Amino acid sequence: MTLIREDDVIASVADALQYISYYHTPDFIRAMGAAYALEQSPAARDAIAQILTNSRLCAEGHRPICQDTGIVVVFVRVGMDVQWQATRDLEAMINEGVRRAYLHPDNKLRASIVADPAFQRGNTRDNTPAVIHTELVAGDRLDITVAAKGGGSENKSKFAMLNPSDSVADWVLEVVPEMGAGWCPPGMLGVGIGGSAEKAMLLAKKSLMEPIDIGALRARGPRTRLEELRLEIYERVNALGVGAQGLGGLTTVLDVKVLDYPTHAASLPVAVIPNCAATRHVHFTLDGSGPATFTAPDLALWPEVHWTPDASARRVNLDGLAAAEVQSWKPGERLLLSGKLLTGRDAAHKRICALLESGQELPAGLDFHGRVIYYVGPVDPVGDEVVGPAGPTTANRMDRFTDTMLGPAGLLAMVGKAERGPETVAAIAKHRSAYLIAVGGAAFLVANAIRASRVVAFPELGMEAVYEFEVRDMPVTVAVSADGESVHETGPAAWRGKFAGIPVAVE
Ligand code: SF4
Repeated sequence: MTLIREDDVIASVADALQYISYYHTPDFIRAMGAAYALEQSPAARDAIAQILTNSRLCAEGHRPICQDTGIVVVFVRVGMDVQWQATRDLEAMINEGVRRAYLHPDNKLRASIVADPAFQRGNTRDNTPAVIHTELVAGDRLDITVAAKGGGSENKSKFAMLNPSDSVADWVLEVVPEMGAGWCPPGMLGVGIGGSAEKAMLLAKKSLMEPIDIGALRARGPRTRLEELRLEIYERVNALGVGAQGLGGLTTVLDVKVLDYPTHAASLPVAVIPNCAATRHVHFTLDGSGPATFTAPDLALWPEVHWTPDASARRVNLDGLAAAEVQSWKPGERLLLSGKLLTGRDAAHKRICALLESGQELPAGLDFHGRVIYYVGPVDPVGDEVVGPAGPTTANRMDRFTDTMLGPAGLLAMVGKAERGPETVAAIAKHRSAYLIAVGGAAFLVANAIRASRVVAFPELGMEAVYEFEVRDMPVTVAVSADGESVHETGPAAWRGKFAGIPVAVE
């Protein structure tokens, strides 16, 4: 009989979450390194270089890989012979571990969880509660997998009830282009097949906890129909040419995982959930001997990829930026921004546009005329940092506000991640503006370009407040130019099938 102590569960969950906030898994690093080595699209290669450099910096600096430090998802397998020395129930223990991890003074993580999701959406301030899946199994161990799942990738999850005669691979190939780049590829796809509606979703999520091993599978060849399906989806998705950050390139997925379960004769439930460039999970077992320990990965694991500002990129001074210069930016052009940027995301946009549309003044000191906005919700700084990791958030959530921001608000250009909707691209062309992208999953690297930060408006919104950042050589790419050309359309179209026959990433 094993005695599991409450303190061991809490400490292990807290340590696990701190660990995955700054360490990618070794399999992920190897697969991303292989993708970098094979990539032939310059834009995608540059994005992967930023992701790898960011990953190493985070491992060295013990700071989060991404500003979105995720919703915590925990899979627990409780041995039926386990005994407890605890005053809390299991969910309360796990949530206490989450609280301690996210409030850790040396590496405070961003609290992203909101309660009352349909209405008030108030931040719970400590990232609780976790989403917890518990199974009772034979044995006397407590087996836990802890993951921190980014909102951008979770938002792209898909589910369908197919006809039993439908092709699962064809359906996945239909939905991946609809996901766009908001899930920050390259990453993984988890596919769940069978069971009931909720079981298929759970299988898809669970499959993402497995290590990346498609290289070994490709080398030895498939032995089961599910392995054949993994390979088929992997190869067909990569042939779509979506590429890193949706810029067009060879590697969109580093692996495809599939789990299945028996289902009703009339049904074929299928779910697909992507995992992003900030793939974060770790597994541990408690056997009563104390809390889990986590070993730091060897830094030699990281490939020798050290992204630095590209001398051939155009340097842009944001202070006194003229509309004519914005209009001269070419689609796909790499820029290095220096000067002052304003920030804002969903909640601030909602307030600003409500004020403007009702004819009211913006708060004192908040003026977007001639300015560039960065869609970001940074992690709080620690030590002598100016700001914590501060990568871009998915821009299309701001689409409904863009015409107002570019018109009455007077904004010149925007920085975010992933594609914009067609109406927004049209609004950008109408206002002769531009939309720039930074690399999702390179948040610590981007934060290194931020030299000063101050809150300008709505401080009560926390990470959603409007800040003014002073940046130096912040790397971005022109995603939509003033004439409305979008690289998220032209990039994948150019790379789709271009390298048919060239092997895609393997570990
Ligand atoms: S890498 Fe992209 S999808 Fe993943 S957590 Fe970061 S911003 Fe979100």
